[in-house]
Amino acid sequence: MKKKFALGILVFFSISLREAFSWGFWAHPRINRMAVFCLPEGMFAFYKANIEFLSRHAVKPDERRYAVDFEAPRHYIDLDHYGKLPFSDFPKKWDDAVKKYTEDTLVAYGIVPWHVQKEYYRLVKAFKNKDLENILKISAELGHYIADAHVPLHTSENYNGQMTGQKGIHGFWESRLPELFGENYDYFLGQAYYTKNPLDEIWKVVIESHSALDSVFKFEKELTKQFPEDVKYGYENRNNVLVRSYSQSFSKAYHEKLSGQVERRLRMSILRVASFWYSAWVDAGQPNLDEFANQKIEINEERFDKLLKNFIDREAHLIPILEQFWGCCQGDAPNYAFYLDRIQKASIWEKPYILIESLLFTETYHKNNQNHKQAQRSCKNHLH
Ligand SMILES: [Zn+2]
Ligand SMILES: [Zn+2]
Repeated sequence: MKKKFALGILVFFSISLREAFSWGFWAHPRINRMAVFCLPEGMFAFYKANIEFLSRHAVKPDERRYAVDFEAPRHYIDLDHYGKLPFSDFPKKWDDAVKKYTEDTLVAYGIVPWHVQKEYYRLVKAFKNKDLENILKISAELGHYIADAHVPLHTSENYNGQMTGQKGIHGFWESRLPELFGENYDYFLGQAYYTKNPLDEIWKVVIESHSALDSVFKFEKELTKQFPEDVKYGYENRNNVLVRSYSQSFSKAYHEKLSGQVERRLRMSILRVASFWYSAWVDAGQPNLDEFANQKIEINEERFDKLLKNFIDREAHLIPILEQFWGCCQGDAPNYAFYLDRIQKASIWEKPYILIESLLFTETYHKNNQNHKQAQRSCKNHLH
């Protein structure tokens, strides 16, 4: 088991260069789920019958980031790398953008608009073929990328506040805030609308997101001046583990200062996800899906397991290093047994997330415990 544990950490470190979370495990499934209720007759019954599938698959693209290298850039676009709002002379079409900036540059700074466009046309094709499994898979994943494009921090090189001394702001805005306050948001949205040009529409989304960045950074900075460090952050008991996080009071103040921004972006995500599904269906000639209303597509975890295994095989040489890393905490670190137990019981797609949590916890423990200064040093030697 020890070996398996180390494998997961390896997966974590390989992706830690770029943020690992999008809206997160709370919001992504919810966005896809709520989008179903904006669909018209002819689509609704089939989507509703498969709402669990659509929720479960909403996080697939993030899981894949642990396994394959090409996945990450599909989730964002660092617009500020290229200039400033309103980006009127930015070439919106892929070929034109490649001509101006080269493909390598585009991939390096994120490709979310073009990936949404690509998935959209795959969905049109799946509708035309009445390929039920692909209709659902592509809908779910398209939903993920569209939702990501609504997050302001997915449109900036300073995506985690790392350039402005605001590290951690990414997960704070898109995961912590919706987890704390999202239950009270208004999820009543109208009907999905038809959008003639999906590429124009998704560009509208990322530019909206980018326009919202200003307040995301500014308000955090202003509040940080009012909150001493020990009030800004706090420790929280999550599943019997103490985790350092933005405090409740700081979160509440920030959420209020943003005056509904997170809710607005979440709501727009839902409506847009439904509207892209609906438009693809219209472009495919509105095939009647009501006849498949009783067809429930099985959730198959096998493919992801395979991807993860391939990745692990490829990076096997790193395993001893990671084992040493855990060696310095093992037995001694609090909750080691607890995490080991959770890892053993977790499904393969949950493992990386539990590992991240345990790792953050261990790091905090090292920092706060004199006896672990030595251990911290040896961890650092292995990892930095
Ligand atoms: Zn994502
Ligand atoms: Zn994100």
